[in-house]
Amino acid sequence: IHHVESYFKVGVIAGDGIGTEITESAIQVLQKLADVSGSFVWEFTHYDWSSDKYLERGWYMPEDGLEQLKRHDAIYFGAVGSPKVPDHISLWNLILPIRKTLTQYINLRPTRILPGTSSPLKSCQIGDLDWVFVRENSEGEYAGHGGITEVAPGNAIGTELAIFSQAACERVFRFAFDTARSRPRKKLTMVTKSNAQRYGMVLWDKIFWEIAKEYPDVETDKMLVDAMTVRMTLHPKSLDTIVATNLHADILTDLAAALSGSIGIAPSSNLDPTRRNPSMFEPIHGSAPDIAGKGVANPIGALWSAAEMLRWLGAGREADELVKSIETVTEAGVRTRDLGGVATTKEVTDTVCKELENIY
Ligand code: ATP
Ligand code: MG
Repeated sequence: IHHVESYFKVGVIAGDGIGTEITESAIQVLQKLADVSGSFVWEFTHYDWSSDKYLERGWYMPEDGLEQLKRHDAIYFGAVGSPKVPDHISLWNLILPIRKTLTQYINLRPTRILPGTSSPLKSCQIGDLDWVFVRENSEGEYAGHGGITEVAPGNAIGTELAIFSQAACERVFRFAFDTARSRPRKKLTMVTKSNAQRYGMVLWDKIFWEIAKEYPDVETDKMLVDAMTVRMTLHPKSLDTIVATNLHADILTDLAAALSGSIGIAPSSNLDPTRRNPSMFEPIHGSAPDIAGKGVANPIGALWSAAEMLRWLGAGREADELVKSIETVTEAGVRTRDLGGVATTKEVTDTVCKELENIY
């Protein structure tokens, strides 16, 4: 009989498209890990908040949805987005309100090449690409301020206000410096566009260099976002920890995931470092309507996100075991189509479960 150390309450929002498939995979693996390790027990609460339900009911989340989510220790999220609903509707009715209201002001996105897989970059070997992106997750270009005004018939003007507050810049930079400091290379690259954007981005830069004074042991540099795409592609080894705005990091982490092998493997953590509210864990990819329902989605981004959830909940050892199992499975050649293999979502999931049984 195992001694159960922890009881974790998790709210689960599977969402749309492959979101439901990869969430099922994550739940199966998390349950297996609880069974074989005996270290914890899950209480999963499933929320059927999705685009299909929105079309049926007219809402994504009930009025007290955010209050319901606050009762959990963590939130696990699949993906949202449907060809039948404009993306800005689904994003602004579900994922963005959760991130903002639950003060998940950090989006942490590790990227690396998994064993047995390869980068589309010719000369890039495993280990040459090992990055952590710290994405500002509360404001910036996604602050949601602006509007569309019809100034004259046939002449509409849309404005989109990016907001950079000193407090939000300070907290994301401190988190990024702490992350960089915790890694062997102690190296932080800040991404900006202050050559062309002269207010918010200039303040962003200024605060970065102020916070940098608190971390003399961390090596720092600054990259314009356009040049950053080139550096990621041509000199991946020169980067370690990267901090960027909400929009810039959104774009760069898709590129990062593609360079590491597939968008299907990349995890993300939406963190409230104050721990006043539950944090949320989700793969970076979307609902992938083009492959939904076929059972071929790569579950690794979802499984790796689940591992990061375990780590955040304090089960670091089990998180490491899960990541190790994922790597054993990719190395053994059990890979989905996006990684050049032929395995289905279920085959990868079952093989990870078997590997966890072997470890314990
Ligand atoms: P959304 O609007 O929800 O972001 P999208 O189609 O714009 O959806 P993604 O869902 O991220 O963006 O899909 C981009 C591409 O990557 C698609 O071709 C999709 O099939 C592929 N893809 C995304 N996630 C996975 C995955 N887990 N496994 C395999 N392929 C994936
Ligand atoms: Mg997308």
